[in-house]
Amino acid sequence: MSDLNLRELHNTEFPIPDELQSNLAITSLSKVYNWSRRSSMWPLLFGLACCAIEMIGTAASRFDFSRFGMEVMRGSPRQSDLMIVSGTVTKKMIVPIVRLYNQMPEPKYVLAMGACASGGGPFKEGYNVVSGVDKYLPVDVYVPGCPPTPQALIHGLIALQKKIDGQSLANMDDVPWYGVGPSEPTPIPILGPDVIDPRQMDIIRRQAELAALGKPYGVRELPAPQMKAVVAAKGAAPAAAAADGGEVDAAKAERLRKREEALARKHAAKGE
Ligand code: SF4
Repeated sequence: MSDLNLRELHNTEFPIPDELQSNLAITSLSKVYNWSRRSSMWPLLFGLACCAIEMIGTAASRFDFSRFGMEVMRGSPRQSDLMIVSGTVTKKMIVPIVRLYNQMPEPKYVLAMGACASGGGPFKEGYNVVSGVDKYLPVDVYVPGCPPTPQALIHGLIALQKKIDGQSLANMDDVPWYGVGPSEPTPIPILGPDVIDPRQMDIIRRQAELAALGKPYGVRELPAPQMKAVVAAKGAAPAAAAADGGEVDAAKAERLRKREEALARKHAAKGE
C-alpha cells in the first residue's frame, strides 16, 4: 500500500481540495475492485515448451514480475486467476489445460504467450498440435514472438492490467462472473485418434450422417467440379507412376547392359 497513488483512483467530478489529495479518494466500486484485482494476479505455475523458460526468466530477479503483484505463481488452479499458456499446445495437453482452466475460480484470465500458444507457431497444422489455445479457451491477451522476451511478456501483463481496469461491475456481458451464479465450464476436449471439441459434436454427427448417405457433408467438401478434377488426377497418378516406373526399369537395364559390355571388353583386353 506504500506506493498507492490515490490520484490514480480518483473517479469523480467532485473536486477534492489540494491539501486532501494525498489522503482522500472518491471513486467507484468498480475502480477499487479492478485496481485490487489487477494488482494481485496470481499466475498458474506451469509451462509447456521453450516459451516457459522466458516466463521463468520473467519471474526471476532481473525482470521480476512481482513488481506487478504477481510474485506468487500458484501450484494449484484453485488459487490462480491467470493462466499463462507458455509453449506449444499439443492435442494431448489441451485436455488437462482445459480441465485446469475449469478448476480456476472466477474472475480468471488467459494469456497466450508466443507463436505456438497463439496460433500453432512453427508447428501449425502439425498432426499433434492445436493451432492456438484460443480454439478452446477465451484468450484475453496474445504475446507474439518465438519466444517472446521477458519484456514482451511484461508488456502483455500490463496490457492485461489495462483490460481489467476497463471492466465494470455493471456490465455483465463484459465480465460474466459478476452475473448471477457461476458460469458454465468449458467442455473438455476428447482425445482419441484426433482431438474432438465436444462443442462441435452436433456438426460432426450431422456431417457423419450426410457422409454415410453419400451426400456432400459440409464446407470441407470440395465443390463437384473440383472434386471431379481431384478424382481424375488421383486416377491418372498411378498410371503416370507406372509409366515412370517403366522408364526407370528400362534405363536401369540399359545401364546394366552397358556395364556388362564394358566388363567383357576389359576381360578381353586382359586376355582372360
Ligand atoms: S513459440 Fe517458439 S519458443 Fe515458444 S514454444 Fe513455440 S517454438 Fe518454442
